[in-house]
Amino acid sequence: MSLPDYLACLDGAVMPLSQVKISPLDRAFLFGDAIYEVLRVYGGKAYLADEHFQRLENSLAAIRIHGIDINETRRRMDNLLARANCPEAMVYIQITRGAAPRKHAFPKDTPPLELLWVQAYDDGPTAVKRQQGVGVITHPDLRWKRCDVKSVNLLGNLLANQAAAEADCDEALLYNDAGFLTEGSHSSFFAVIDGALVTTPGGNTILPGITRLITFRLAPQAGVAVREQQLHRHDVDKVQELFLTGTTSEVLPIVRVDGKPIAGGEPGPVTRALQRAFTEAVRQSAKIA
Ligand code: PMP
Repeated sequence: MSLPDYLACLDGAVMPLSQVKISPLDRAFLFGDAIYEVLRVYGGKAYLADEHFQRLENSLAAIRIHGIDINETRRRMDNLLARANCPEAMVYIQITRGAAPRKHAFPKDTPPLELLWVQAYDDGPTAVKRQQGVGVITHPDLRWKRCDVKSVNLLGNLLANQAAAEADCDEALLYNDAGFLTEGSHSSFFAVIDGALVTTPGGNTILPGITRLITFRLAPQAGVAVREQQLHRHDVDKVQELFLTGTTSEVLPIVRVDGKPIAGGEPGPVTRALQRAFTEAVRQSAKIA
C-alpha cells in the first residue's frame, strides 16, 4: 500500500512526512510513552485551537513530559497550516518522551520529540453519515484508568473499533464492568432522555472530548439542558435519541445499537438542532478569523 505524504514538522523542521526519521528507541515506539492531539481545520483555520492546546498541555502534565513550550508548538502548527495551504484539513500532533536506552523509568535529560502533520480532510463520506445516522455496537471497555489522558496507547480502543467494523458499524460504545457506558472508541456519546442531554460524567473514565465540551456550550441554543449521568447499556433502548461527538465526526446520529433501531431508526430533532448549532458555530469562527 502506498502511504500518503503530508507536510510535517519534526522538532521544528518542516519536511515531507516521508522524510521523517524517528529512532526505534523512541519511547512512543517501545512503550507508547506519548500523547497526541487532533484538530480540524475549517477554511484554513484550526477550530477550537485554545481548547485543544489546553488539553495537550493537560496530557503532557499528566504524564510528566517536560520541556515543550506549547506556544511554540502552536506557532509551528500555524506555520505548517500556512505552508500546507489546505483549507479543509486535520492536524495531528504527537509528543513523545524521546529516545533513550530501553528502561521503564523516565530517562533524565532526554528531550521530548514533537511531530506535527497536516492532512487534507474530505468530509464527504462523514457528511452522508451525519444525514443518515450510523450503527454502533456495544463492547467491553478494556482500557486503563486514565482515559482522560490523550495517550497513544489505543489498543483497547482499536480492538473495540475493529469489532464494530466487523459488525458493519461505525463505532463501538464501551461499557465498564458494571455495564455502564463510558464513551465511544474514538468519540464521546450523548443520549436524549426526557428531552435533556445525558452524557457520562467527566473524570478519568473518559477523554474530555472537545466536541463534547462544545456540545455543552451549544445545548442552550438547541433548547436542551445537559446532565452528566451514567447510562446503563441495558437502558439504551429507552432513550429518545443517541449521538456521537468528535473532532471530525462533529455531531453524528446513532440510529442502530447492536442491530436494533434506536428512536425509530432516524436521527432525532435534538440531534438535528445540535448539528445546525455546530455548523453555525464553525461558520462564525471562520468569519471571525
Ligand atoms: N473519546 C475518545 C476515546 C477519543 O479518542 C476521541 C477523539 N479523539 C473523543 C472521545 C472525542 O474527542 P474530540 O471531540 O476532542 O475529538
